[in-house]
Amino acid sequence: MVMIKVNRSTVKKNKDAGCTSTQVHTGQCISTIRFKGSRLIPKYFDKLMKMLELTGRGGDPCVQYKYLINEDVNIEEMVYVIKMQGFQLLGVDQNQPTQAVAHPPTPNFSFNYEDPSVECLNCGSRFLLSELESDCTSEHEAYDHSDEVCPNCKSWNCCDGVKWEQLTDEELQEIVNG
Ligand SMILES: [Zn+2]
Repeated sequence: MVMIKVNRSTVKKNKDAGCTSTQVHTGQCISTIRFKGSRLIPKYFDKLMKMLELTGRGGDPCVQYKYLINEDVNIEEMVYVIKMQGFQLLGVDQNQPTQAVAHPPTPNFSFNYEDPSVECLNCGSRFLLSELESDCTSEHEAYDHSDEVCPNCKSWNCCDGVKWEQLTDEELQEIVNG
């Protein structure tokens, strides 16, 4: 039997302990650009973006435009084009849509286990615990599997059991406190 200890130097308290949802990005970033000017909008702008809003009257120096930039258009290039056309840039807004995804509560602590050298009881070779392989079989209608397959001789359960150290939150807190 091999006892795998918690790697003390990797123990840290989770800031989001107990949290049951996480915001994840969904879909494309939405970019809008605002500018103003009295010039006519060049026709090719329609190929790069879609007008959302127009305030004021055409020909008026204060007319303001708000456009949705197409997904495949580089924003920096669009800013450059707008300035080159003699418009005054008012701002660029980027909005990445997010959605809350529910999950089991985040544990109070996170840590890694040590990766000790272990010995195969069958062939005697030594290797790191992380080098152990997994295998399964469904012979005789019974499903069986092992997570302790020797990378050298391929024998199953070659360490005669791996036990992972279990620490309580109190013990983990003590480690964090030093
Ligand atoms: Zn072996």
